[in-house]
Amino acid sequence: MTDGITRAREILGRVFGYRDFRGPQQAIIGHVVEGGDALVLMPTGGGKSLCYQIPSIVREGTGVVVSPLIALMQDQVDALKLAGVEAAFLNSSLDAGTARAVEQAFVAGHLDLLYVAPERLLTDRFLSLLERSKVALFAIDEAHCVSQWGHDFRPEYIQLSVLHERFPAVPRIALTATADGITRQEIIDRLALQDARHFVSSFDRPNIRYRVVEKDAAREQFGRFLRDGHQGEAGIVYCQSRRKVDETAIWLSGLGVAALPYHAGLDAEVRRVHQQRFLREDGIVMVATVAFGMGIDKPDVRFVAHLDLPQSLEGYYQETGRAGRDGEASEAWLAYGLSDVVLLRNRIDESGSPDEVKRVERQKLEAMLGYCETTECRRRVLLDYFGEALEPDYRCGNCDNCLEPPETQDGTVAAQKLLSAALRTGQRFGAGHLIDLLLGKATPRMVQFGHDRLPTFGIGSELDDLGWRAVARQLVAAGYLHANSERYGALQLTEPARGLLKGEVSIRIRKAVRRKTGARDRAGRATRPAALPPGIDEALLEALRACRRRLASEQGVPAYVVFHDATLVEMALLKPGTLDELRQVSGVGDTKLARYGEAFLAAVREAT
Ligand code: ADP
Ligand code: ZN
Repeated sequence: MTDGITRAREILGRVFGYRDFRGPQQAIIGHVVEGGDALVLMPTGGGKSLCYQIPSIVREGTGVVVSPLIALMQDQVDALKLAGVEAAFLNSSLDAGTARAVEQAFVAGHLDLLYVAPERLLTDRFLSLLERSKVALFAIDEAHCVSQWGHDFRPEYIQLSVLHERFPAVPRIALTATADGITRQEIIDRLALQDARHFVSSFDRPNIRYRVVEKDAAREQFGRFLRDGHQGEAGIVYCQSRRKVDETAIWLSGLGVAALPYHAGLDAEVRRVHQQRFLREDGIVMVATVAFGMGIDKPDVRFVAHLDLPQSLEGYYQETGRAGRDGEASEAWLAYGLSDVVLLRNRIDESGSPDEVKRVERQKLEAMLGYCETTECRRRVLLDYFGEALEPDYRCGNCDNCLEPPETQDGTVAAQKLLSAALRTGQRFGAGHLIDLLLGKATPRMVQFGHDRLPTFGIGSELDDLGWRAVARQLVAAGYLHANSERYGALQLTEPARGLLKGEVSIRIRKAVRRKTGARDRAGRATRPAALPPGIDEALLEALRACRRRLASEQGVPAYVVFHDATLVEMALLKPGTLDELRQVSGVGDTKLARYGEAFLAAVREAT
């Protein structure tokens, strides 16, 4: 072991209270401590922060961290300080006097870590401070912000190449959780990281359980999901529209859930307060549009639910990735139905974007639909999309398709019936009417158009309404039917549909299932991922949580900054009686032991 790694290990244990490095952390930290440049691609929750925090402490001078997430700097710095690290930040939220004090501490060499907003870093004033200070390294967090094609583009990031030009001897480490190859290449080019070592992790998030349900009554389905194992837990609920966000938040509040809305239509101050409460309080459910989430590094988000279909797998993966950063069991839940598909397709068609853009958007939506309809392991489909190939028969054991393999059946005849119903009615009607037709329902509309006299009327009794909706959805998803936006979602046949009608191709479809409440996995256990280890003293755990809440609010920091859930769980299992015993718990470093040790020991004593 090199000297650098020995010191890094010592800091890992003493300051952060962790026993071992996770995944590639040791290799990355070793490389940066020795002065090498690095590009780190690691999924959310992989443990990127330690990759620059520890080298900043080990190396002489201050680690300068560029981050676009001003709102979170305070919490990050608070967390480091509580662990005994000399950390500070500089951004527009500081008054001039405080900013000057931070600058002085920096130049005087008193800081291990300094977080800076990119626009601040690029000022002449700050660049000249850098000239006069000892810089241990530059960490460029959220490095994908240099990508002009990504939705987090920050023009200032492009100018960060100045760091390399002006301070060639200072090692740089760029980090991101954005996986795709184009973004990676842009980071390398724009930040001049050609000679940096690349550390690319798997983007798998094994602790997240993926689940997709057929939308029936989305709200009630989601209500059940919450009741069956996520009560009192922190989560994010994504909706497509602001209105739906507001309505859903009100509905959840009515059920007694601590739910808050978040979207771009709310006042900036309201948004700030809601975000703050979500971060600081236990068990808040944030109901939001995609405007919410970038850089939310709350570690104990236990679920991310989508009540509407996301537009792409990139977005979906990023959003679901906000669950379970602490590595504990978490769920990604998505409800989707035919109306989602129709809505999103129409939105693309009517967007007025250039054809090339529409084409890409359609492809992305197809991939999203393919994920929803797949009968294979969902994790395999996701990782495959992001360029990580797994065996075709790979089974992760932690997605709905692995836990309750869906039944498929030959769907050719059913598909033909639905296609001919569309043809016979002039391709002018949506799924609802066609299904009524197949089921032989003589609705006023049916009679008005004389459709009750068609040969297809009533020929579909082998399936019920839900079954036919599944067929329609799968035909649309597979591109046999097109929902025409100018005709209110009228289903029209596409060219490949002819082959299906003529019996030249056949299709297998997923059987529609009415999933019962509290579905069971193969072993008969409730499908909720096991959050708590068996035999844990839940009353003790609650007492430890209360202790954490009290300390956090006394100090005005989020609860997880005091200790993570995993640390409290380990404490509840170990029931430490002395400071030495408490120090063995993962996440308890020296400074936190000194600061909080007695309080938690007292909590253990009182509750046991
Ligand atoms: P990222 O920035 O990659 O999303 P973080 O740096 O926030 O991830 O780390 C995610 C979580 O994992 C944090 O709660 C962190 O404290 C924890 N963590 C990181 N490294 C380790 C480790 N070696 N042992 C235990 N926990 C760790
Ligand atoms: Zn799986």
